Amino acid sequence: MADCAKVPQWAACAGHKIGFHSKRKINMTTTSSTIRQLQRVIPGIATSDGAGVKLRRSIGSQANLRVDPFLMLDEFGTDNPGDYIAGFPPHPHRGFETVTYMIDGRMQHRDHLGNVGDLGPGSVQWMTAGRGVVHSEMPLQESGRMRGFQLWINLPAREKMKPAAYRDIPASEIPQTTLSSGAKVKVIAGSLDADGHKISGPINNAERRVTTDPLFIDVELPAGANFSHAVDASHNVFLYAYEGSLEVGGKMLPTQAAGVLSAGDEVRVTASTAGVRFILLAARALNEPVVQYGPFVMNTREEIEQAMRDYQSGEFSKSAV
Ligand code: MN
Repeated sequence: MADCAKVPQWAACAGHKIGFHSKRKINMTTTSSTIRQLQRVIPGIATSDGAGVKLRRSIGSQANLRVDPFLMLDEFGTDNPGDYIAGFPPHPHRGFETVTYMIDGRMQHRDHLGNVGDLGPGSVQWMTAGRGVVHSEMPLQESGRMRGFQLWINLPAREKMKPAAYRDIPASEIPQTTLSSGAKVKVIAGSLDADGHKISGPINNAERRVTTDPLFIDVELPAGANFSHAVDASHNVFLYAYEGSLEVGGKMLPTQAAGVLSAGDEVRVTASTAGVRFILLAARALNEPVVQYGPFVMNTREEIEQAMRDYQSGEFSKSAV
């Protein structure tokens, strides 16, 4: 998702322009219990992608609105089939990971080798595009609500050309718990401290680490409830409220906007009076140059030109998955 199917479309695609961005500052602190504050709000901008799927793009809606290593966050959410039925016909990716998290509805992934993955409510697909994938992402329903996210996470230079890989994770394999604070939490990547005991998600756990060490949790808070959690002080962190709104240090993060947090080693969130559902993402910044052209994200222009040549010559379709 969130990419353009054909070369000529890319130029018209929001956030899909070639651009360098300078090295970001590394969030570092040696002080313990520094609570992260709401530093920047990136609103979700209504746009469309694929063959006309309506979505909201926050992270990555402009090249300077990335949160290293997070390249892009799209939220799709509608009851109107006309907003999603056209789906995302075959398109390539190279150089990063795409994470699809379904809240409602069903999508089907198919790739150039004939792999098929069905994504139902509450499921996740974690795709490492690596050196190249050509795939489609199409709705498996003709009516009803379709809601979820697609997140793009960058790969370090040394992993951009590794073989592609998929993990299709059904909802039943994503651990969830209710904390004493009343927070209901699902753990997709990384580990949650659940009232003193550790719950690890299916991605980035003790068995297999992701280099950017992502934490990806989905939290539901009743009205006025609090959620706090330790995060690595060196990681970049953002929140995205998809139902209701929340407060961080007295500042409100409205619904359907990404809230980028300042440096610190603890996140503290309070739900608004209507309660809130939000996702929290944290990961280690790569601090490498980013050159993006549509669904190709590399370190140099030469590597982007190579990606375009490889795609046009059919090289992607020969890549093993
Ligand atoms: Mn895709």
